[in-house]
Amino acid sequence: MPELPEVETIRSQLSERIPGRRIDTIAVYDEKTVSPLAPGEFEEAVTGQTILAVNRYGKYLEFPLRSGSAIALHLRMTGRLHWRPGSADDGTRFLKLELTFDDGSSLVFGDMRRFGRAWLLPEDGAARRDYWARKVGIEPLGAAFTAKVLEQVLDGRRGPIKPTLLNQSIVSGLGNMYVDEALFQAKIHPLRRAGSLATREIIALHRAMRDRLRVAVAHGGASIDSYRDGLGQRGSMQDYLKVHLHEGEACPRCGCVVVKTRVAQRGTYWCPTCQPEP
Ligand SMILES: [Zn+2]
Repeated sequence: MPELPEVETIRSQLSERIPGRRIDTIAVYDEKTVSPLAPGEFEEAVTGQTILAVNRYGKYLEFPLRSGSAIALHLRMTGRLHWRPGSADDGTRFLKLELTFDDGSSLVFGDMRRFGRAWLLPEDGAARRDYWARKVGIEPLGAAFTAKVLEQVLDGRRGPIKPTLLNQSIVSGLGNMYVDEALFQAKIHPLRRAGSLATREIIALHRAMRDRLRVAVAHGGASIDSYRDGLGQRGSMQDYLKVHLHEGEACPRCGCVVVKTRVAQRGTYWCPTCQPEP
């Protein structure tokens, strides 16, 4: 599933190509993608609009339009967003949306599993800020996310640290893969009670979260299953994962065998020596 680094890779590629482009045509091929709006309503609202920017909130993308409204989009499990210089069919399968721009370039949204969504956001800027503030937690790569802030949001939480970090309304953008990697780097067991971490552990976790996300962005994200970047290319972060998907292999830090268990219904990889059980 695309997490923050994968969505950020797409955002960065699209933001070099799409802002300033007018949407000449839009075709909705799967009504579920834009539900509850009807395909015709969605098409009418965005046709002729100029895209002003490409923003990211956690794992969501936002495309503000000249009308003041904005298109929001979530790739969910298997969604792909692919920009191409022309409108020729590039073989994208499971096509949900297709936008063509005034310079002949186009953007297609494909999704094998039909969970990906696009919807319209309010025209009022303050209402939009409220919308995102309610929907997503702190941006982990933002300047406002300090170790102190992480300590404050974890304070008093009785649940285990892994599901706490997966909760998008607390810190946004991390999924199963990068939480495993960050907890390994910070030497914290995934079942540690979130509110029980010592200050030095929180500092290590904060550093590990930002480090793993930044490294993953630098590698264009991880193409483990269906993820491709905004130009249809694979990322390479899958080659730099240390424990995630490495069950039975040697821990790169201590040489012990990496194990896989289930935490919060998610396959969870960790090193029993580096990350002692609570
Ligand atoms: Zn280890």
